[in-house]
Amino acid sequence: MTDDDPDGGIGGVHIKYLLHCPRQLWLYARGGYRPEQRSTTVAFGEAVDATTYTRRRDVDLGEAKIDWVTTGAVVHETKSSRTPSPQHQAQVRHYCLLLTRMGVSVARGVVHYPLIRRTTEVPWDAAARAEAEATEQAARDAIAADRPAPRLPRGRCRGCSYRDYCWGDS
Ligand code: SF4
Repeated sequence: MTDDDPDGGIGGVHIKYLLHCPRQLWLYARGGYRPEQRSTTVAFGEAVDATTYTRRRDVDLGEAKIDWVTTGAVVHETKSSRTPSPQHQAQVRHYCLLLTRMGVSVARGVVHYPLIRRTTEVPWDAAARAEAEATEQAARDAIAADRPAPRLPRGRCRGCSYRDYCWGDS
């Protein structure tokens, strides 16, 4: 999945960072430095994305890009991770929310984990929409804060591109 934020909207990366570390989201949105753009993890993810599924259509929402949407508006997202995560489901819910606002009748979402050959279903109903809207607002609140949130415990910073900024190493 690729994602960008040309219009100041909340995209999938914002949701991912919020749920991992609100400080990471603030630095990404306010700091003007986006180290993830040169992350090998992202590059690998994009490679998996490009080679694993042949039946795909990109949908560009401005704030975010959906991997592809099949007939019936099922939102698919592919992850290079071997570990299914609630954060991944939250990202897909966010895409469902963006599509719904565009008038698309979204049925549900699916997170694909090709490296472990698993999928996770993401329901899309009134409760899921409320959760997605609350998460989006939490992201806006975190970005609007005057200062970045406190650091996470260092053990949870593994793999974060802002370690140099936060901890003086990389
Ligand atoms: S290095 Fe740790 S505290 Fe700093 S942004 Fe990354 S996850 Fe958050």
